[in-house]
Amino acid sequence: QLLSSQSIPTPHTPHVIQTQRLPDSLRKKILVTGGAGFVGSHLVDLLMSQGHEVVVLDNFFTGRKANVEHWLHHPNFSLVRHDVTQPILLEIDQIYHLACPASPPHYQYNPVKTIKTSTMGTINMLGLAKRVKARILLASTSEIYGDPTVHPQPESYWGNVNTIGPRACYDEGKRVAETMMYAYKNQNGVSVRIARIFNTFGPRMHPNDGRVVSNFIIQSLQNKDITIYGSGAQTRSFQYVDDLVKGLHALMNGDYDLPVNLGNPDEYSIKDFATKIRDMTQSKSEIIFLPKVADDPSQREPDISTARRELNWEPRVSVEEGLRKTIEYFRGEVDAAGEIVPT
Ligand code: NAD
Ligand code: UDP
Repeated sequence: QLLSSQSIPTPHTPHVIQTQRLPDSLRKKILVTGGAGFVGSHLVDLLMSQGHEVVVLDNFFTGRKANVEHWLHHPNFSLVRHDVTQPILLEIDQIYHLACPASPPHYQYNPVKTIKTSTMGTINMLGLAKRVKARILLASTSEIYGDPTVHPQPESYWGNVNTIGPRACYDEGKRVAETMMYAYKNQNGVSVRIARIFNTFGPRMHPNDGRVVSNFIIQSLQNKDITIYGSGAQTRSFQYVDDLVKGLHALMNGDYDLPVNLGNPDEYSIKDFATKIRDMTQSKSEIIFLPKVADDPSQREPDISTARRELNWEPRVSVEEGLRKTIEYFRGEVDAAGEIVPT
């Protein structure tokens, strides 16, 4: 049975999302840390539409209330302003632990805080999971592979991270978070899931996120220079956010409890990606080359055979289709703001 979400259409959610009515025996109470962020808010939409009770916990460092405002008055939804570095007592069945800045400018803004978020934050969520016997899924990252010497990257690859470089606060934070997940599983019997997420894009990315998709689209829409860091020969593989949240959901609710790569193996050089976005937006932007950023991984592509085998999951949305939707979203953001200067 479908109920209306009673949502008010907003620039972030121009459509009404239907919510299913679940019997008490099937309705779970699900915590999403970082649920007001880009990925978290899409996950919240999926869980709410399925009829679950959802608690979002967020300190709004990079997240925005606007991303979840369409749920604020729904009886199944709660929003708690809270920093995961502080303990919290809640009664819940599942935890999706996403709280952590994800874009390089954001996580490098306050590296100590980023480390605290990944370490103390994950310990707090694991402690909560242990107390209430909830299953916990960690949003880990392809960054744990560092600048990979194996290509594409399978989960069995141990990675190549500079422990003292500018990205280390994020990469090493996530690596130790993974370690803590298995320590709690082995020592305390906590049920854990780990998603190693590869570059993801879509509507609700923060306009000042500083990541390549948002920067290139915003620059193109305003006919400003498209800034490539380095030669542009470095590669990334981009997945659309709807595919990711389906993968997170399948992982949480499946039996497989080792790390799983979630990404779209469609790999682009950053230079080709810039040209693609410029063409799709019919922009007059120039492509310019700025100095390379330190420790920038030179190549990245997920091996998703584990996700295919264990979760029966693979990306369904092409990069082109995802970009069309994301360009539309950013067009709205640029129109609303008048001008956006990307980070
Ligand atoms: P985001 O910055 O949009 O979302 C992160 C959310 O966490 C924000 O709402 C932020 O306010 C919140 N947050 C940060 N620190 C917090 C703290 N101490 N306490 C409470 N809330 C806090 O980023 P995103 O792209 O949605 O990423 C979500 C998760 O997925 C992150 O854990 C990230 O590491 C992981 N991930 C994302 C990508 C990607 O391409 N988007 C790739 C790999 C991994
Ligand atoms: N990048 C770029 N110009 C930008 C933003 C990013 O050339 O304006 C490059 C960046 O150096 C990296 C790639 O694009 O090689 C992806 O960067 P992003 O910050 O999106 O993600 P990550 O490096 O974490 O994969």
